[in-house]
Amino acid sequence: MIIHHLNCGCMCPLGGALYDGFSKGLHAHLACHCLLLETRHYGLVLIDTGFGSDDMRHPERRLSRFFRLMNNIQRRESLTALSQVQSLGFRAEDVRHIVLTHLDFDHAGGLTDFPHAQVHLLQREIDTAHARHSWLTRERYRPGQWQGVSGWHGYAAEGEKWFGFEAVTALRGLPPEILLIPLAGHTLGHAGIAIQDANGWLLHGGDAWFYRGEMGQATRHCTPGLRFYQWMMGVDNGARRENQRRLRELSLAHGGEIKMICSHDALTLQALQNR
Ligand SMILES: [Zn+2]
Repeated sequence: MIIHHLNCGCMCPLGGALYDGFSKGLHAHLACHCLLLETRHYGLVLIDTGFGSDDMRHPERRLSRFFRLMNNIQRRESLTALSQVQSLGFRAEDVRHIVLTHLDFDHAGGLTDFPHAQVHLLQREIDTAHARHSWLTRERYRPGQWQGVSGWHGYAAEGEKWFGFEAVTALRGLPPEILLIPLAGHTLGHAGIAIQDANGWLLHGGDAWFYRGEMGQATRHCTPGLRFYQWMMGVDNGARRENQRRLRELSLAHGGEIKMICSHDALTLQALQNR
């Protein structure tokens, strides 16, 4: 399996280093870290989709005004997963599966660029995203981003645990090396995605944490901007903090076997792309 690390979106909120810990100017730089897996027997598998072509062309139609302004979402079509898949010499139809951490606007925007793909995520996320019962859920979940997508596969945790975490171990039509790890908190149906290749495990934690300093050390280190954003977006902040604590423990106990990445830390993504 070949794993490509893609940046499928850029958000530059006001706050600079108070958000991302490194930007020199007024604006921060948050990435949308997605993965493209080239598998031998299952075609291309996309892990999260970032923003899609229609988000870049018609942001006012697809994205909420609140998040367009607050997150300062950049319009760069070259960053879409579709554009990067094509740059690698593939066609949209080659992406046969998409596995999602959750359905927020900055993770699900690319779905409409791959209407033939089978989409895998926790059933609980599908249910809450479709209910859109509060102001925040209506701003974050954007049904226009899923229009025409028909190959939904919703799951609940079952099967063997993964390093002590609940897991979905058998995604339909996908190899057993790709697992969903329920990590509720940021949204109710939020999940991490664990992938095993010849080098060991890679855990894409989605929005279970936002900042590199939150993992790999005994105490949590996070910028004030990202602390606030995580709290604001959290639907169950108790569960979110508890899952983060367990993930931090995992990163300390098994750091040699498991590489852990989250969606929006631009420096982590850059380091992996430069390797
Ligand atoms: Zn996000």
